[in-house]
Amino acid sequence: MEFEFWWLLAFPLFFALGWIAARVDIRQVVTESRALPNSYFRGLNFLLNEQPDKAIEAFLEVVKLEPETIDLHFALGGLFRRRGEFDRAIRMHEHLLEREYPQGHKGLAEEQRLRAMSELGQDYLKAGLLDRAEQVFGKLLETSQHGQARTHLLEIYVQEKDWQKAIDAARLLERDTSKPLNADIAHFYCELALLESAKGNSDAAAAQLQQALAANRQSVRANLMTGDLHAAAGRHEAAIAAWRLVETQSAGHMALVVDRVLGSYRQLGRVGEGVQWLRAFYARQPSHDVFNALYLAVSETEGAAAARQLAREELRRNPSLRTLDRLLEAEIVTADPEQRELLQVEKSLVASYSQRMMRYQCGSCGFKAKQFFWRCPACGRWDSFDPERGEGES
Ligand SMILES: [Zn+2]
Repeated sequence: MEFEFWWLLAFPLFFALGWIAARVDIRQVVTESRALPNSYFRGLNFLLNEQPDKAIEAFLEVVKLEPETIDLHFALGGLFRRRGEFDRAIRMHEHLLEREYPQGHKGLAEEQRLRAMSELGQDYLKAGLLDRAEQVFGKLLETSQHGQARTHLLEIYVQEKDWQKAIDAARLLERDTSKPLNADIAHFYCELALLESAKGNSDAAAAQLQQALAANRQSVRANLMTGDLHAAAGRHEAAIAAWRLVETQSAGHMALVVDRVLGSYRQLGRVGEGVQWLRAFYARQPSHDVFNALYLAVSETEGAAAARQLAREELRRNPSLRTLDRLLEAEIVTADPEQRELLQVEKSLVASYSQRMMRYQCGSCGFKAKQFFWRCPACGRWDSFDPERGEGES
């Protein structure tokens, strides 16, 4: 290719065109930023300085001056809800729901309206207005927001303890999202069984527990409750069999079961056999709570010397305050009167500490309780509690 002189003219021309294009862009950016009210930047500044109250005031001013800033409306509404200011969140989302959207953007307008509705439903839910929340999410079931609506409806039914509706909603949600919810569904059946049991309908309760196991073969709670039903009806052999199945599902959960098993052996007049079984289980799966049950059973059936020996071994294997408490207890029985007095002071000190510190704990949010929960009262998760009591800081 030969060099032509007119190319020398073309270079400055392209350069000039590029320069003009850049100027146009910059001018557009400047015009747009001028269109935003100053309060918007003030609000941002407050947010960056972690002064949310002042930021909200500034943003509310923007919203008044520029009613078209829909995303800012949504952001503010969400912020109010998170801060627990449900009245303001509800007002903000109702306004978004009722406002006139510009003509010609029908699809977009509908999308914004559904989004506002879903946000409003969440405001009601968080504010505890469950009836209203249920109504809103019910309307959203036939729309593009149906996935979220179903998730929230399930949450509402659980809060309302409407377990049959919860089962139906969870099954539909499972079908929609292919996320397994069988463990939760088994708990809903167990809750239904509890209601039947409280009414004295033990057959109906047993049927619900069967459903729980059909939904989730690993449901520890269903076997535990089946054992309870058998024991309450005096069928102790069957109760022991049901409870011992828990070991095949989750050995850790046996800590909740061992006292029950021993109780039924006692009812059958075969407590020695129960202790033998518990010793063997403890050898397979040693833990503090199981040790405690074994200690009590051994001191009852084999006497203080055997119990003391057991406590010494456990203290060496896994030192803890509650084992020390048990050892002191065993020492007191065999001590002479002079030693006994001092040992009693030591024991009451250790016991008060260990009782205060022994807690069940949610593995999800860290909530601690004296009682074991299948569903955490703080974060609402199922099966999040460790079945063994810890001795952490209280
Ligand atoms: Zn929790």
